[in-house]
Amino acid sequence: MASIYSCKECGADLNLHTIHLFPPDYYFEAGNKGSLSFAMIDSSKFNFQKENKFVPFFETVNYWGIHRNRTKLKCKSCGFRVGYVYDDGPPMTDHPGQFHMGPSQVIPRAPRYRFKTKALKITSET
Ligand SMILES: [Zn+2]
Repeated sequence: MASIYSCKECGADLNLHTIHLFPPDYYFEAGNKGSLSFAMIDSSKFNFQKENKFVPFFETVNYWGIHRNRTKLKCKSCGFRVGYVYDDGPPMTDHPGQFHMGPSQVIPRAPRYRFKTKALKITSET
């Protein structure tokens, strides 16, 4: 059954599709609590605001680095922050990683569009 995801603040349809939703038990290094993660979104529905944080982080042996890429996702019609874009999606290669110390964020990873469940209004289509 398909669902319609709209902005809780203004009610705009965010054009998100259940087919692009990661399974609820899919593991993400940066966490997935209280949120829904999509593999693909309609970029015309959002404003993107890049955050540049140079902070070392070591979340797991497979996910560490110096620069965490995180982009704010805002509803295009009202500017309400609905979530973030993370770069901890599924790895796109089986590269040995930076300095051959194992995989890390230097491996290209698929983007993950993480939405706060509370920021969305989810209605089921019948
Ligand atoms: Zn909105």
